[in-house]
Amino acid sequence: MNILVAGGAGFIGSHTMVELLNAGYNVICVDNLYNSSNEAINRVEKITSKKVKFYLCDLIYIDKLNQIFLQEKIDAVIMFAGYKAVGESSTKPLEYYYNNLLSIMNMIEVMRKHNCKNLIFSSSATVYGQNVSVPITEDSYVGDLKNITNPYGRTKLMIEQILYDVANSDKDFKMIILRYFNPVGAHDSGLIGEDPKGIPNNLMPYIAQVAVGKRSELHIFGNDYNTKDGTGVRDYIHVVDLSIGHILSLNIFFNSDKKYTADGINNNIYIYNLGTGIGYSVLDVKNAYEKVANIKIPYVFDDRRLGDIDELYCSPHKAKNELNWVAKRDLFDMCETSYNFQKNNPKGYDDMNNHNIVFAERK
Ligand code: NAD
Ligand code: UDP
Repeated sequence: MNILVAGGAGFIGSHTMVELLNAGYNVICVDNLYNSSNEAINRVEKITSKKVKFYLCDLIYIDKLNQIFLQEKIDAVIMFAGYKAVGESSTKPLEYYYNNLLSIMNMIEVMRKHNCKNLIFSSSATVYGQNVSVPITEDSYVGDLKNITNPYGRTKLMIEQILYDVANSDKDFKMIILRYFNPVGAHDSGLIGEDPKGIPNNLMPYIAQVAVGKRSELHIFGNDYNTKDGTGVRDYIHVVDLSIGHILSLNIFFNSDKKYTADGINNNIYIYNLGTGIGYSVLDVKNAYEKVANIKIPYVFDDRRLGDIDELYCSPHKAKNELNWVAKRDLFDMCETSYNFQKNNPKGYDDMNNHNIVFAERK
């Protein structure tokens, strides 16, 4: 089976490519390297001793994408590609709508043209909006656009709606929407991990940079939330567990003996939360990191970050019951692998090692 991984050079994509290759799938990676590096792909090959076919291609160019589908027989697509920085999306809303919406629409159009009708889409807990009660199930109310605090989150909700409409119009098109909670950590090898450009937006990569002395102190956004210690509570999920969730989801396309609960009226759209179901506060994460790294993380309490809520964690039962998926790695594994990657790669990936590039696009 040939799986096209769009955005495969990125954080979650690279880990998922490892699991796909280990499970025996052929992997075709498409990425414009806007937020990633060739080196991640080289390292996926190193970890697995298997080859990835890589196309440097921007999904906003439909003709190039079409060429790839002419060259390759694709059985399913996993769509990671998109811009993802919550804060930046408020200052560059048009770029986010343009890139995220056009990329998925081009992908679907080309898939249909080539009769490839199996799509997994990376969605986010952010679609549940602000007024959600925990634990969040797949049936929890999905927020309306005004209830989501940033353009990035709104692109996710808009794309989910597009997927619904396409699935309803074409009953052969199978769509899986995976709503991720807070993906963190890195591969055990220490070769691949999260390599944010500039100042990290997210908690775990920020702590990692404090741990190796790249930043002086952690700023904890708010200590007056309605939580056990006043700091925000989230459902952190190890990126390797998350990646395995994608491999198990592929069974919906390729192994239809089992019963999966569809969401769409034509029984061809499936939604799963991927999280551990356990909520940890910012202080829990900091303390766990200190323990595994055997290091002190200096911190200060700062103002609340706009749009943040008290606590967000999921019920992972649907994924467990239907996909047979259980998150096996705990908070210490998440911190340990994050620290290991950061120590081994204090400057992130080294871009000098160019992968075999098929053709280039927008730069
Ligand atoms: P990432 O930025 O590391 O990976 C995304 C990849 O897509 C990058 O390699 C980037 O270069 C590529 N890309 C972006 N626009 C493209 C385009 N037009 N054409 C081709 N390639 C393009 O992000 P990630 O953390 O791996 O996230 C993957 C997906 O999961 C994203 O859609 C993100 O919104 C979603 N998600 C991430 C998180 C998280 O916390 N990391 C949480 C929920 C959902
Ligand atoms: N957070 C923080 N300092 C940081 C980054 C994040 O205190 O530098 C907090 C944030 O307020 C939230 C939690 O850590 O309570 C997780 O934030 P993150 O951005 O990692 O994920 P989110 O759930 O917002 O997508």
